[in-house]
Parts: sequence; C-alpha cells; structure tokens
Amino acid sequence: MSIKITEECINCGACEPECPNQAIYEGGKKWRMSDGTSLENKKILDSTIFQKPKKKDIYFIIPEKCTECVGFYNQPQCIMICPVQCCIPDQENYENKEKLLQKKIFLHESD
Ligand code: SF4
Ligand code: SF4
Repeated sequence: MSIKITEECINCGACEPECPNQAIYEGGKKWRMSDGTSLENKKILDSTIFQKPKKKDIYFIIPEKCTECVGFYNQPQCIMICPVQCCIPDQENYENKEKLLQKKIFLHESD
C-alpha cells in the first residue's frame, strides 16, 4: 500500500530527497507522474502535466508513485527517516508486494 503523511508533519523536509520514486512533495507544490520516473520516455499521456498539490501546508505523498520503496529498499525510507513518525501506511490504498513491484516496473523501466 502507499504510505501517507499525517497532520503531525513538521515540514522538516527530511523525507523528500529519500524517496526513490519522487512521490513526496512539499505542501503547495505541483507534481507530475514523470518527476523522478521514466514515464516521460514511455510517452504516457499526461505524465508531464503538472497536477494540483494534494496538501497546502504539509508534505504529501502521491499514492500512484509510492511503492513502499519496494524494488529499491527493504523498508519505506520516509517512515525510517521521519523524526515525528507521521509517515504511516495508508489503509485506503492497499496493495500487496506483487502489485507494488509491478508499479515500480511501470514507473521506472522503459519499454
Ligand atoms: S515509502 Fe518509499 S516510495 Fe513511498 S513515499 Fe515513502 S520513500 Fe517514497
Ligand atoms: S520527514 Fe516527516 S515531518 Fe519531515 S517533512 Fe517528511 S513527513 Fe513531514
């Protein structure tokens, strides 16, 4: 499943550079599926279009880009680094390991 960031986020910014999928954005920032992925090379429609921020005041995670770090690390890096433990599993976006690996391949491996 995806990880999500709760309202306890103190905006320290420590998690953002650790994400191998560039799935974490600062509050108020626009985001793209193509950021940090190879989707632009696949010419998937809309991957380079900037999308509206999901949160204005705290960091947020794009579920479609989060693989729980599967394919890169054994543990979700944002959970490990967050100083206030506000990165938690998002039960509404459950995916098993196989699905997460498929997502990683979709995001990063060119056709
Ligand atoms: S679990 Fe990994 S892929 Fe998901 S947001 Fe955190 S660092 Fe990024
Ligand atoms: S590491 Fe935690 S507190 Fe810092 S920006 Fe990320 S989610 Fe927020």
